[in-house]
Amino acid sequence: MSVLDIAKGMGVTLSHLFKKPVTVQYPEERAQIKARFRGRHHLLRHPDTGLEKCIGCSLCAAACPAYAIYVEAAENDPNDPTSAGERYASIYEINMLRCIFCGFCEEACPTGAVVLGHEFELADFRYQDFVYGKEDMIVGVTGSKWQRREAAAKGTEVRVGFEAPGRPELEGVDH
Ligand code: SF4
Ligand code: SF4
Repeated sequence: MSVLDIAKGMGVTLSHLFKKPVTVQYPEERAQIKARFRGRHHLLRHPDTGLEKCIGCSLCAAACPAYAIYVEAAENDPNDPTSAGERYASIYEINMLRCIFCGFCEEACPTGAVVLGHEFELADFRYQDFVYGKEDMIVGVTGSKWQRREAAAKGTEVRVGFEAPGRPELEGVDH
């Protein structure tokens, strides 16, 4: 290796010293998530009626390559319906340890009920805490299970560690 090669190498190193770093001081600094990033799921409601979009058809579960989704359907009470269809999901669960965030469930859903959002901070301690139910994914719920536990224990608001541009299909979702 000649002196010229060393000088060239040092030149490359020095040129990067003064560039803006691509890393961020996460979690103090929020990560910038791309619009199409696929994180944990949201279950949407019809914005006009507030009824759940999910009709418990299980097409998402059938499309899931990781067998991560479990759905049980029940008949709607005509006087007090839960969803806009004849049936609704009485149980809707996704195992986040199995999920590979491929988005097939979102594509398969005939009512646009399930969408993948931007939340990625899903770490937790116990196996059962990775199984998300309706109460964890229904629109309006922000944060992963541990983030909500932390916030409840401290009496603070849930703080997610990212910012993301809006997506039309996530209209009504906090982020
Ligand atoms: S994102 Fe893919 S792996 Fe995850 S629940 Fe949906 S279909 Fe299954
Ligand atoms: S999320 Fe969509 S595909 Fe899955 S059960 Fe509900 S309506 Fe059917």
